[in-house]
Amino acid sequence: MSKVLLLNSSYEPLHICSWQRAIILLIKGKAETVERNGKDLGGGWRLPLVIRLLYYIKIPHKDIPLTRRNIMHRDNYTCQYCGKKNDLTIDHVLPRSRGGKDTWDNVVVACLRCNVAKGSRTPKEAGFELATRPCRPFNFIHFELSKQNNHVSRKDYEQWRKYLYEYD
Ligand SMILES: [Zn+2]
Repeated sequence: MSKVLLLNSSYEPLHICSWQRAIILLIKGKAETVERNGKDLGGGWRLPLVIRLLYYIKIPHKDIPLTRRNIMHRDNYTCQYCGKKNDLTIDHVLPRSRGGKDTWDNVVVACLRCNVAKGSRTPKEAGFELATRPCRPFNFIHFELSKQNNHVSRKDYEQWRKYLYEYD
């Protein structure tokens, strides 16, 4: 179902929410509609696409959680050693057995075969090359948005774009 981009009063993108949540913010007078699509929800309401809070909220720094799904998403569900897209696992670049940590710059997606072949060696020792150097995704809202991409229609997404890229 339709998603709504929520902006701070400063127009800075904050969050992606359901249209139901957006309507509640509008009814409560906490937000205003910035962009809507044509869809009629009844009762004089049109489906919002972008809404803006009427008051400014301070944004706490939001860390992107280091979860299996987020790592998979960052690495595009692709083995970072051979490019395979199935039998995927998470590999520690510097193996845990040698002090490698659970951090964005030390985990990559690897297929089972590469993971086993690499064993407790570094990529260099194993003669493997990483497709990209792993790092922390830089922007929370973009990361969330890219995960939602399939659920946001192209037309709606076009309407969001202008609010998203000023804040890179
Ligand atoms: Zn592989």
